[in-house]
Amino acid sequence: MKQKTDLKNFTLPALEQFLKGQGKESFRALQVFKWIYQQDARGFEEMTNISKALRAELTETAFISNLEPEAIEQGSDGTRKYLFNLGDGHAVESVLIPIEGRNTLCISSQVGCAMACEFCLTGTFKLTRNLTTAEIVNQIMAVKRDLISNPPTTSADGGAGLVINDEGDDVEDECPDSPAAIRNIVLMGMGEPLHNLDNVIPAIQIMIDGNGLQLSNRRVTVSTCGLVPEMVRLGREIPNVNLAVSLNATTDELRNRIMPVNRSYPLKELLKACKEFPLPGRRKVTFEYVMLGGVNDSLDDAKRLLKLISDIPNKVNLIPFNEHEGCDFKAPTRAAIDAFHKYLIDRHVTVITRDSRGGDISAACGQLKGKLEKKVAA
Ligand code: SAH
Repeated sequence: MKQKTDLKNFTLPALEQFLKGQGKESFRALQVFKWIYQQDARGFEEMTNISKALRAELTETAFISNLEPEAIEQGSDGTRKYLFNLGDGHAVESVLIPIEGRNTLCISSQVGCAMACEFCLTGTFKLTRNLTTAEIVNQIMAVKRDLISNPPTTSADGGAGLVINDEGDDVEDECPDSPAAIRNIVLMGMGEPLHNLDNVIPAIQIMIDGNGLQLSNRRVTVSTCGLVPEMVRLGREIPNVNLAVSLNATTDELRNRIMPVNRSYPLKELLKACKEFPLPGRRKVTFEYVMLGGVNDSLDDAKRLLKLISDIPNKVNLIPFNEHEGCDFKAPTRAAIDAFHKYLIDRHVTVITRDSRGGDISAACGQLKGKLEKKVAA
């Protein structure tokens, strides 16, 4: 039997091509695309404005994939972690972070990761495989469904959490979101998104398509450990997406040690690519900086960090290291975090220190492992 095609791997133009190959007009693609992303259709029989004959034909050649969470855990701060079974023995996790009525969803791009950053749990599993475009968008669609049936209650959080791409400078920001809306998507879960660009780029195109998931490109952030040629490609193919770079060290010596990617693309090249990344107007590159106690958390580090990024429109996300088993790094002290934060703030850098949201359910940065055997006790 001929293998059926998963339509969720297609952007709208790709779907047009696919249907054209079957002799169909391009408006059919638009109809099907809207059914999938705006009506969340799971099958062709629902598509009532499409002829029965075409529906039957599509049923023969294509299908619409879906992900259902295998487990959902909710932390005391409202953070929700979703475990998705990919059906081939592998799994990934997504994390929903509701802050003051606004939902940020952190999604995965790979099963495991090849980048081998020394402090990251996902990295210890090596790369198993890339997620498909469908598996990337299906994380969002599954969480949307959960939010509709089970909206989060507003947390009284002071806003020190994962605030990545809120510019706070537009009228839109004044309007409260519906509790079920996803405002920001961050590709900061498991995997290195720029190591899977062939699938990540179409997934982002579906996210920001006005006929697709209808997210604004200013609300989608791609986070990278610093794959320079892929940063250039991302900027060329989706120029308005937000860029976050996990810097984590201010000297090549340390960065080579804790992030092997730096041996291929040292700081100078990485920062040049950040500087040249096409961001519109007032938007800034987010520099993530995982603070490792006694390793990169001194005021000298803060000083070097400032110098490195000062000629790039920037904001800084300080992420106190989240400890995990088998990793010898330690969390920084509160005093070190505060001093580092203050040093930058005093020099007019926009800094957010991320509290470990979801720490109690191992949903914080660097704690995702996506293991099926790790089930929640009911
Ligand atoms: N590969 C991408 C996205 C995934 S990691 C990237 O490197 O940016 C998301 C963020 O979590 C990165 O900034 C990473 O440096 C950080 N991180 C990884 N392990 C961590 C840990 N144990 N504690 C705190 N942050 C961690």
